[in-house]
Amino acid sequence: MGPARAAGWAGAAVAGVQLLHLAPAVSRLAVVRRYAAPAVAGRGAAGHVALTFDDGPDPESTPRFLDALDALGVRATFFLLGSMLERSPALGRDLVARGHEVGLHGWHHRTQWYPAPGRDLRELRRATEAITAACGARPLWYRPPYGVLTTGLALSARRLGLRTVLWTAWGRDWTADATPASVRRTLRPGLRGGATLLLHDADCTSAPGAWRSALGALPAVAERCRELGLALGPLRDHGLPPAVTAR
Ligand SMILES: [Zn+2]
Repeated sequence: MGPARAAGWAGAAVAGVQLLHLAPAVSRLAVVRRYAAPAVAGRGAAGHVALTFDDGPDPESTPRFLDALDALGVRATFFLLGSMLERSPALGRDLVARGHEVGLHGWHHRTQWYPAPGRDLRELRRATEAITAACGARPLWYRPPYGVLTTGLALSARRLGLRTVLWTAWGRDWTADATPASVRRTLRPGLRGGATLLLHDADCTSAPGAWRSALGALPAVAERCRELGLALGPLRDHGLPPAVTAR
């Protein structure tokens, strides 16, 4: 699909979903890079790198990320799960109080392939309302679990005024053998201006304790951005276009 076909982000998302239905074994990252419109993939301002975390909040790991980010003077965007936030609502408020941004990752961490737009809208609305209530801030961004944007999820996010943002680089920080060094190495080729980095501050879908690899990589990621003269921060500073709410 050429750039002209990718002009409408919802259209691009639908095209990607069709491909995923045909070939679910295809690397999700490859699909994102080839088929998602730049803003959906997370390509932002040339002088900025967006730092994003998925799957939290978790009382064991998330506070350590907050402390590490404070020490580095870096703010980030956390894509929260309603099911996780429900157990630790105070953590959500703490995230925002410490200057971070919250996005929506879903209620449960799952992909439901059978089309049911009403179900998708209910689930995203429930999670959006839970995040707004717990954190005191309404999420502006949406990232579906596993990066699988079905048509129902894409349309539901639009209805709720959420802009879908995937990622351009990840650290493979979810595997049992991930280390800070492996995360650094994996991220490095994609760590350039306009990138959106994906890491995890919780291990609810990762190997137990895998979050330590992401945590340990943070100082080097911040240092690399400094070397390159790039600002590292949340999606709100990434220069992405605002969400357009469907009627
Ligand atoms: Zn996730």
